[in-house]
Amino acid sequence: MHQLTLAEIARGLADKKFSSEELTKVLLARIAQLDPQLNSFISLTEDLALQQAKAADARRANGESGALLGAPIAHKDLFCTQGIRTSCGSKMLDNFKAPYDATVVAKLAAAGAVTLGKTNMDEFAMGSANESSYYGAVKNPWNLEHVPGGSSGGSAAAVAARLLPAATATDTGGSIRQPAAFTNLTGLKPTYGRVSRWGMIAYASSLDQGGPLARTAEDCAILLQGMAGFDTNDSTSIDEPVPDYSASLNTSLQGLRIGVPKEYFSAGLDPRIAELIHNSVKELEKLGAVIKQISLPNMQHAIPAYYVIAPAEASSNLSRFDGVRFGHRCADPKNLEDLYKRSRGEGFGPEVQRRIMVGAYALSAGYYDAYYLKAQKIRRLVKNDFMAAFTEVDIILGPTTPNPAWKIGANKNDPIAEYLEDIYTITANLAGLPGLSMPAGFVDGLPVGVQLLAPYFQEGRLLNVAHQYQLHTDWHTRTPTGF
Ligand code: GLN
Repeated sequence: MHQLTLAEIARGLADKKFSSEELTKVLLARIAQLDPQLNSFISLTEDLALQQAKAADARRANGESGALLGAPIAHKDLFCTQGIRTSCGSKMLDNFKAPYDATVVAKLAAAGAVTLGKTNMDEFAMGSANESSYYGAVKNPWNLEHVPGGSSGGSAAAVAARLLPAATATDTGGSIRQPAAFTNLTGLKPTYGRVSRWGMIAYASSLDQGGPLARTAEDCAILLQGMAGFDTNDSTSIDEPVPDYSASLNTSLQGLRIGVPKEYFSAGLDPRIAELIHNSVKELEKLGAVIKQISLPNMQHAIPAYYVIAPAEASSNLSRFDGVRFGHRCADPKNLEDLYKRSRGEGFGPEVQRRIMVGAYALSAGYYDAYYLKAQKIRRLVKNDFMAAFTEVDIILGPTTPNPAWKIGANKNDPIAEYLEDIYTITANLAGLPGLSMPAGFVDGLPVGVQLLAPYFQEGRLLNVAHQYQLHTDWHTRTPTGF
């Protein structure tokens, strides 16, 4: 039963092959048995899960239906869950029980999804390897010595190991797409403003976006359907109708114009990954797509710009964790300054502290123009590159990451080496565009992802292309040994 996708679960529940309660019990037992190897969960919510599963079964018995009614999922531990610890992977929030549900959590619960737990993540979503979590590193089910990617590494490892069919995640610079690539999943970062950020603990507010992680594009369509939509509680949420993502999965790719940026195939890209990307291009050509080389000339400036803007916003967002209102408070503070310094010094890990310092520096008087303002100008150039490219092509295709998952600890003393691994993903966040990663093969037994980018609000197109690709390839069906 643990091999079933969300779509298969929906059919099984509708045909009364099993109940949500039965399925939930199977998956909870599987998590108890296998997660100690992976560390993909921070909190399990067994009681809530069984209660939601029974309620979903009762709703189905009363004639209700719906693709998510009774479907087991988990939430990245930065989505606020009422009365349940919401840690953001940080000691700072180790004792924080959210007083309300995030919009995403509430919407999915209303659709009948069953929450099995809260997944591990890099502290405050800062990282590409899930090694900065206060709760310890997450292991990649494809090779337990390797990272699962980050920051949504817990959601990715759990879904890849078949502990559950799908999970929520967030992407500020790649944190849905990169772990999807590293664990052989399909992950979608929606257009900025498509999914409400209300109750999603902020890292960099102008870049953060929630989205689905699952094994197939078909399942991402189902989960995104439950997450997307306008929310008056989020001032950056966009009032744009949500299309039926499942309905457009089977649109033909005949004549689809796919752009492949020449800058993507530079020296930093593992040639074995380049080959797999070319294979995926050939596959899509067979399905009727037309391939065109394009250029994104400002791409080379994206990493430095991102690593100014994201820490700048983080330094502001994380100022609320001061030891006064909620979160960790140091013992016996001598005075107010001591309270701030020790609470924050003890509560935040090294990567978070580094980013707060970089961000505060970039925003400080005298440096603002040189760093923050300049980075914002680069951001506009990156966006303009995409706008120009999308006058010529419908979709942009390339690698999700320059390398496959590295060994745990490999970048321990070199944060910049890890930042450079975000080269292909962060441009979509800077521009606010939707992006998807899907399985495209293996290198040394480790999964490789191909990334698709589309114009604003074309999530349906991304899911359509990925679904068609998955109907003709079987990379996404491969299962890690031992799971
Ligand atoms: N790796 C990037 C960072 O550390 C992106 C993380 C994310 O998308 N949350 O900022």
